[in-house]
Amino acid sequence: MADFKTHLIGAAAVSGLAATIVVMSGPFPHQAVIGYFILGVIGGLLPDIDSPTSIPIRIAFATLSVVAGFLVAFTFGKHYSLLELMMLWAGCFLLIRYGLLNLFTRLTTHRGLIHSIPAGIGFGLATTALVFHGFHSSALDAWLCGLFITLGFIVHLLLDEWYSVNLYGKKLLKKSFGTAFCLGSLKQPLGTVALYLTVIGLLLCCPSPRPVAALLANRSQNPVTERLWPGAAWFQGFMQRVMPDSLSSH
Ligand SMILES: [Zn+2]
Repeated sequence: MADFKTHLIGAAAVSGLAATIVVMSGPFPHQAVIGYFILGVIGGLLPDIDSPTSIPIRIAFATLSVVAGFLVAFTFGKHYSLLELMMLWAGCFLLIRYGLLNLFTRLTTHRGLIHSIPAGIGFGLATTALVFHGFHSSALDAWLCGLFITLGFIVHLLLDEWYSVNLYGKKLLKKSFGTAFCLGSLKQPLGTVALYLTVIGLLLCCPSPRPVAALLANRSQNPVTERLWPGAAWFQGFMQRVMPDSLSSH
């Protein structure tokens, strides 16, 4: 559990810092920045979804099974009796919660291909493409969503590499060192090739990254690099508002 907590805190810290830089670099709506932050945290939990004991995947499948149960009940609600609906509901829940989850964990090996740098890039690109085409967001918004997912993902891989702990918090320093922050898996050459092809395919689905480059290159207004440290006084505007007399008395 300590590992899950470490990932949650690490992703939240880095994502929060990145979201703050986004706030400093331009007029972004608050909801969007909070959304980026949450995506960064989700990205930090994504690499371990291939573990049968991973908390996010258990939550995801439990949620999916309940939602699917409701959808079934809504669809057939007018035609069947309460008992029949409850049976359908329970069947749906069991099928997803146990059937699909077992299938998913059997098809993937923990710290396999999903736990790699290209997978992190792929998840980010998929998010960008989905937000751009699915939600009709601007290219900049879509790219920031994807970048935050990848950022959280990379933070997770780095944390695993540094701590070299497994999901149960036991130290496996020699065994797992170097396996977390990887570019693919030599044991799964076909899977690795497929992964890279998927990343290229996803890149082609994404909008032009030019708006992001423009944002990063924009040094004309309020450059973040010039605002790393406070100027003459700390919290200038704030102090003026709290203690208006203190400045005039100087
Ligand atoms: Zn991990």
